[in-house]
Amino acid sequence: MSARWLREGRSNASAAAGAEPSKRRLVSPLGQGEALSRWLQLARRGQLPHGFLVEGPRGGGKTTVIEYFTAALLCPSDLDPDGPCGVCRTCSRIANGLHPDVHLLDLAQDEADKKAWKKSFYVVTVEQVRRAQEELQRHAIEGRARVLVIADADCLGEEGQNALLKTLEEPGLATFLLLEATRPENLLPTVHSRVQRLRVRPLDEGTITRELSARMPNQSARFPTALALAAGSLGAALEACTEHAVQIHDLVLGMLAEPDRLRPVAITRTVLATSSEPRLHGDSVRSFLRTLRACLRQQRDALAAAATATYPDSCAEPWTTWLELTLAAERDLDLMIPPEQVLTACLVSFAGN
Ligand SMILES: [Zn+2]
Repeated sequence: MSARWLREGRSNASAAAGAEPSKRRLVSPLGQGEALSRWLQLARRGQLPHGFLVEGPRGGGKTTVIEYFTAALLCPSDLDPDGPCGVCRTCSRIANGLHPDVHLLDLAQDEADKKAWKKSFYVVTVEQVRRAQEELQRHAIEGRARVLVIADADCLGEEGQNALLKTLEEPGLATFLLLEATRPENLLPTVHSRVQRLRVRPLDEGTITRELSARMPNQSARFPTALALAAGSLGAALEACTEHAVQIHDLVLGMLAEPDRLRPVAITRTVLATSSEPRLHGDSVRSFLRTLRACLRQQRDALAAAATATYPDSCAEPWTTWLELTLAAERDLDLMIPPEQVLTACLVSFAGN
């Protein structure tokens, strides 16, 4: 074992720039129950299917699950037969993105990718897939296995997915492809037939509140809003406690305070301006839509609670329409329509209703 530790240490020296990677610790996924445990046990024995798809909503913990599976495949420790030990050097390097046997393919990683991304808008390119495959072939396994993680696999175009098929079919010895997807229906049937699937479950409010209290104890005033926005996603709840989320929340409240003076283009511009860089525009628009939806639900529920028995049911109708508009806009974002266009169109419809 010690020889491998040395090999891993040497080959990784450039990535770690001589520093001991110990900043982030491996996090075990919360509230995922039996299915996760079963797959993890297989991963520990190196018997995980070679093509594995983790699916679920954005911010629902897919990345944490994939990282944990990766560690389960690679961790050399005998400490826990059913999961990675979480404390060894291998686990620590996986948690910090520094393990030489772990290859990550995600959106726009370098300048060439960014150019392609601008052209094709939010797509994992076929060139990225080919590069990742070449790297996988070239790279000798240093530990127990090698892993190619494909984040946002549902953003792979048809060409990219087709390029993946052969690797999914014959990945090579001890090689695993872990795919992550928010919209698994975007993947071709030929990809689906070559992977096993795990759906990440939404978390209950108690679990989310416990995690928020542990991680952001000073933000407790925001917890009720965060829970309303979370819809079972810890990622969304944590995000709702950030400065950016407060900015977005203020924008939504401002807009709802004067619905008759709604200015779609101006609001869209302000929402986009809250992003630190253009590639995050989609995230800002998504965050705005979710916050708007949570606030609309609060308004509707308050109205329903105040309504008398004679109050007509139809009074909930505009809210239903508005909620549907925000959902449709999120679907448009998933379909890779530019965020600016999506939000402006949504707000124009909103003003017209
Ligand atoms: Zn370990």
